[in-house]
Amino acid sequence: MVLFDEVDGYPIDVDGEGDPVAIGTRRTDGYADWKIVKGSTPAKPKGISPIERDFLRSDMRRFHVPCPFCSAQQVLWWRDPASKQYRLFYSVNADNQVDPASVAFICSGCQAKIPERYKQQMLNAGEWIA
Ligand SMILES: [Zn+2]
Repeated sequence: MVLFDEVDGYPIDVDGEGDPVAIGTRRTDGYADWKIVKGSTPAKPKGISPIERDFLRSDMRRFHVPCPFCSAQQVLWWRDPASKQYRLFYSVNADNQVDPASVAFICSGCQAKIPERYKQQMLNAGEWIA
């Protein structure tokens, strides 16, 4: 198994030996049961980002979690890419600090504010959906 992390931050060429992902991928050549895992925050522009390219070539799975109130399966978006609605809710106190007790995720199904105490339960019940 080869794990690549923060792929978008890799240089195009490492010490004249070429693409670091290609170099690492070649390490699997001698194995029949290889696995390659790539992760990254997209850090390069669309159309140039290596992790975006790989994601678009994949089955485009995203991790979905169920709402504890209405069971709607959803991605934990900070901001919904379609509606542009922010899903992460919090309020600030008089010192302009986030009030930890106010942090919640807004369900895309029932619009309930889901308190953070439900997060682990939601993650445990989550699943990757293509
Ligand atoms: Zn809900």
